[in-house]
Amino acid sequence: MKLYNTMTRQKEEFVPIREGKAGIYVCGPTVYDLIHIGNARPMIVFDTLRRYLEYRGYEVNYVSNFTDVDDKIIKRANEEGVDASVISERYIAEARKDMHDMNVREATVHPKATEEIPDMIQMVQTLIDKGYAYEVNGTVYFRTRRFQDYGKLSHKNLDDLRSGNRELKVSGQEEKEDNLDFVLWKPKKEGEPFWESPWGEGRPGWHLECSCMSKKYIGDVIDIHAGGEDLIFPHHENEIAQSEAANGTEFARYWMHNAFLKIDNEKMSKSLGNFFTVREIGEKYPLQVIRFFMLSAHYRSPLNFSDDLVEAARNGLERILTAVERAEEALKQAEDSQPDDGQIRKVDELVEKYEAAMDDDLNTADAIAVIFELVRLSNTTIGEHISKAYCEKILDTLNLLCGILGIETHREEALLDEEIERLIEERQQARKDKDFARADAIRNELQDKGIILEDTREGVKWKKI
Ligand code: AMP
Ligand code: ZN
Repeated sequence: MKLYNTMTRQKEEFVPIREGKAGIYVCGPTVYDLIHIGNARPMIVFDTLRRYLEYRGYEVNYVSNFTDVDDKIIKRANEEGVDASVISERYIAEARKDMHDMNVREATVHPKATEEIPDMIQMVQTLIDKGYAYEVNGTVYFRTRRFQDYGKLSHKNLDDLRSGNRELKVSGQEEKEDNLDFVLWKPKKEGEPFWESPWGEGRPGWHLECSCMSKKYIGDVIDIHAGGEDLIFPHHENEIAQSEAANGTEFARYWMHNAFLKIDNEKMSKSLGNFFTVREIGEKYPLQVIRFFMLSAHYRSPLNFSDDLVEAARNGLERILTAVERAEEALKQAEDSQPDDGQIRKVDELVEKYEAAMDDDLNTADAIAVIFELVRLSNTTIGEHISKAYCEKILDTLNLLCGILGIETHREEALLDEEIERLIEERQQARKDKDFARADAIRNELQDKGIILEDTREGVKWKKI
């Protein structure tokens, strides 16, 4: 399989460090609010990479963190008058729910920054001992110039960075030896969470978290490091500097970065305010559709979010589900006859074509085009007097190729059930809030869909009529 490596700017054959195993680290969200659908892109794309590598026989160790200590979390906690952990735990739970609904599998490990502080302190100490870091007034800085390879991922030159940075005046700037130096450990401010360290009470810098968590859960060298393209600089560049300086070895073999999800051709982001949360979109479309939409473009191409494009994805997915239903119906009447070799071969050829697309830097757009070829083949060849073996072959292949992309091929009862549960929960909340109009509206909506609610002592029960 070939992967485009941001480091070398070319597609390279994926060769794992240890045969048959792949360690992948994906930078996860900062949990101060619901995730938006821009954040969902790396989640879906790299979950698909994981699924494909597993299909190819790799044992994948997939690690993705939650950044649960950060200025934005602290700000939100202060606004609500609660502890920062209340905010981060709330939004970790919400992010997990969204990931589940988008069929993003649980990572092998989802480490949280706040649970890894001793390792971070250890790494800072190693960097100080090796002369790569220094402390001033409780802040520890990384001595960027000391790391010869700085800029190798983002292909930036230190002198250009320096002149670009000259005008910047950030607090603490004066105490740095060089304005390219970045923070590894910062002293606590009033009202902030903190941990004891040899440099006083404080908390780690963001970049440090990923260097430590990837080391702990994968190793000094990881196979694939991934995230959105905005992370290339400075985040990933700084991770490389810290890890390679501390561990004395290459940090990651392959660097993969997804392009942005855009809206009106601008990056979707919290700071620009032009975002939709996954939760909001989930009320308009099944999140399966969003997953299908995300994968309909290659991960390195920018993708514009619009209702029209999502509708197109919905129609496309619908065609696949209908083909599966038809094939399942046909199977019931299929005959025990010998399948046509030529037809079987055609299906096998499509599988090969699909694999070739995925092997080419995870080209899910082309892989989906192959699924549509299979749908057409199915629709034109499956009918009366069809052999059972051929019908099963088509069905198994449709299920397989969709499954690798994390796309369910059935209008899932489970999905529907979840929707019902969610509405019931919302109704309970509405009742608690004494919003009886909303509660009744939900009951009626469910009734229209053939769902009857029963309020019992054990809680609300529901049944389909
Ligand atoms: P953050 O919580 O901002 O650190 O982002 C979490 C992940 O989402 C990172 O990998 C980002 O690169 C990615 N990301 C944020 N916004 C977008 C976007 N509009 N399109 C694609 N990826 C994004
Ligand atoms: Zn990271």
